[in-house]
Amino acid sequence: MAMGLGLIGYGGMGRWHHENLARVEGIEVVGAYDVQPMRGELAAASGIRNYASLEELLADPRVRLVTVATPNDFHKEHVLAALAAGKHVVCEKPVGMDAQELVEMMEAARRAGLVFTVHQNRRWDEDYRIVRRTIEDGAIGTPFYIESRVQGSRGIPGDWRCVREAGGGMILDWGVHLIDQILWMVDSPVVEVYAHLLSVRFPDVDDNFKLLMKFGNGLSALVQVDTLCFSNLPRWHVSGDAGTLVVDDWSCKGRVVKAKTVEFRMEEGIVYTKAGPTRTMAPRPVESIEELPLPKVETDWADYYRNVLAAVEGREELIVKPEQALRVLRVIDAAFESSSKGICVRMQV
Ligand code: NAD
Repeated sequence: MAMGLGLIGYGGMGRWHHENLARVEGIEVVGAYDVQPMRGELAAASGIRNYASLEELLADPRVRLVTVATPNDFHKEHVLAALAAGKHVVCEKPVGMDAQELVEMMEAARRAGLVFTVHQNRRWDEDYRIVRRTIEDGAIGTPFYIESRVQGSRGIPGDWRCVREAGGGMILDWGVHLIDQILWMVDSPVVEVYAHLLSVRFPDVDDNFKLLMKFGNGLSALVQVDTLCFSNLPRWHVSGDAGTLVVDDWSCKGRVVKAKTVEFRMEEGIVYTKAGPTRTMAPRPVESIEELPLPKVETDWADYYRNVLAAVEGREELIVKPEQALRVLRVIDAAFESSSKGICVRMQV
């Protein structure tokens, strides 16, 4: 029999979980609870039970797994309630408002002996998997600098996302995904965090930010999120000692550009470019570089829940482990500290 799943919160993401789970054999969405009656009616109209209260959802024995898809400031309360009711839990990102909240949730899950994980679905994004594959294949040599960014021009939706107490702002939104992607890819501790958070149009929260992480192995990564940008830079730009990887956008167009030979002898004399004389920045002779297409990858967001099911049944280890989410939240805590004090935060995470 399929494992029953209950949704807490049936807004944009709650509905998305419901639709996406239709593709996951072995899990059946049985119902949802939302504080707004209108959202509950929507759940009923989609063919699932509309629970009258959180208690009713948690008392339903058919529900063995709960997905928390409420605004960020409710996550801890809902995760702890679900664990106390003996349910396995998937929580939307950011799993907590800060690292301390997550520590409490992890402790409760450990005591209850239940599976607890975070919906870091962007580990299954095609653009991200392309970057991982290109680096793993050694196509650009040893990477030393990664830039990962998303940019839009529409501002922040005018809901809880622009309220600080509700966990609004971009670092707790897209930032969580982008930081998680990098930490899952770089096998080294974060040793420095420097962040620049701006509130351009939304005074209560960060609506544009840049975050620089340095790792113990010497690699650096820039994570950037803009909501007031009208001409975008590439989604990914990765520098390696033997080449450069560029992924332009979510359509996954891009390229690997590398030197045909690593050894490159500079011209003896000065080079005259349109910007005047420079040898360092002069373009390379075209015959000394080659351009390669990006690798093709197969990836599926539904694999996230397939893994959760396998973990509950004891067949697989969780892919998204709470300890990994804790690293992300520690970096975010450091980013807030860095930006408010104007300092570089040293750490070992
Ligand atoms: P939303 O505002 O569309 O939906 C939130 C829902 O929760 C609303 O229907 C609201 O009525 C309900 N709610 C609020 N308080 C509640 C309570 N106490 N009890 C029950 N229901 C309550 O927001 P959203 O876009 O669906 O975001 C929800 C969560 O999903 C957030 O944590 C967000 O960061 C996350 N999210 C994740 C992704 C992803 O790609 N993983 C994408 C978008 C949002």
